[in-house]
Amino acid sequence: MSRVLEVNNLIQYFELSVDLLDKFSIKEGKISINEKRVHAVNDVSFHIDAGEVYSLVGESGCGKSSTARTIVKLIEPKGGSVRFLGDDITHLSARRMLPYRKEMQMIFQDPYASLNPRQRIIDIITEPILFHKIESTKKAAIDRAKSILERVGISSDQADRYPHQFSGGQRQRIGIARALAVDPQLIIADEPVSALDVSIQAQILNLLMDLKDEYGFSYLFIAHDLSVVRHISDRMGIMYLGMIVEEGPKENVFDAPAHPYTQLLFSAVPKIEKEGEFAPIALEGEIPSPIHLPPGCLFASRCDKAMEICKNVRPEYVTLSPGHRVRCHLYTSTGQETSIDE
Ligand code: SF4
Repeated sequence: MSRVLEVNNLIQYFELSVDLLDKFSIKEGKISINEKRVHAVNDVSFHIDAGEVYSLVGESGCGKSSTARTIVKLIEPKGGSVRFLGDDITHLSARRMLPYRKEMQMIFQDPYASLNPRQRIIDIITEPILFHKIESTKKAAIDRAKSILERVGISSDQADRYPHQFSGGQRQRIGIARALAVDPQLIIADEPVSALDVSIQAQILNLLMDLKDEYGFSYLFIAHDLSVVRHISDRMGIMYLGMIVEEGPKENVFDAPAHPYTQLLFSAVPKIEKEGEFAPIALEGEIPSPIHLPPGCLFASRCDKAMEICKNVRPEYVTLSPGHRVRCHLYTSTGQETSIDE
C-alpha cells in the first residue's frame, strides 16, 4: 500500500504579542527577549496510506485543526517534516506547492464561511478545475462541475444559485463537490459534520464514505465526536494539548484504550461501548497552559495514575500491539502495564 502522507515530529506555535515594555528584561546584566508562544502542535507524527481514513480526535483546542492547517501549509510548520506522495513539502514555496495543492483538498467545518458568497455555485466548482487544468475548456469544466454537483446530491439546475440560497447540509455538499472537482488523493475534512443538524450528519457521512470508495482517495478526518470517528476511521490518533498520546487501528483503540486520557474521553460517551465497560472518570486537575507546557507528561495534572516520573519525564511511544502505540509511563518498553507503585 503506498504512503500518501507522512508527518514527522510536527511543531506549530503562535507568537503572542507582548507589550514593548515587557518584551525585554535584564537578567544578570544581560538583555533577554521575553517571547510568549502558544504551543499548538507538539511533536506530532503519523502517516496515512492510500485509501485509508485516519482520524485525529480530541477535545476542542487540542491542536487537531492546527495540525491539519499546518500540513496543508495554510500556516508554515515551525518544526518537523511533512512528506506528501513521497516528496518533502515542508518548506516548499507557494508556487512549488501548487501541484500538491491539487492533490490535497480541504473540507471545512463551516461550509458557509468557506464559500465565497458573491460567487455562483457553478463558478465556485469550475474555478479550481480550470486553475489546475483538469479540463482545458470552460465548457468541459462546467460539464464536469455539474456532474460532480449531481453526484453529491445538488441538482445541476441549481448551479447558478449563490451559497446563501442553500441549506447548511447542501452547502457542505457544495464544499465536498469543490474538493472533489480536482480529483485529489487526500481530503482533509476538518469537523465536516459538527456544524450540521444531527439528522443531516449521517447523510453527509455516508456521502463522504461512498465517495472515498468510488474515487479511492484517503481522508485525514478531524473530529471530536467519537461515534463519528468509530463509523468512519481505519486508524485514529488521540490528541491532548497538541500531542498524539495514543494511536492505532480503530478496533484496538476502541476495544482496549490504553492511555488514561483516551479512557477519560471514552468514558464521556458511555453509549459507544458496552455499558459499564468504562466507569465515568471525574475530571480533576488543571489543564496546563499551552504557553508554559510542563516538562513531563502533559496529562499529569489530571491523571489519577500519575507517578513521580510523570512530572519530569515526557513519555516516549510504547508499542502495545501492531500499529497500536501509547505515550504513557504506565507501559514498559515491552508494552506491559506497570504497577503504579513501582
Ligand atoms: Fe498518567 Fe503518567 Fe501516563 Fe501521563 S505518563 S498519562 S501522568 S500515568
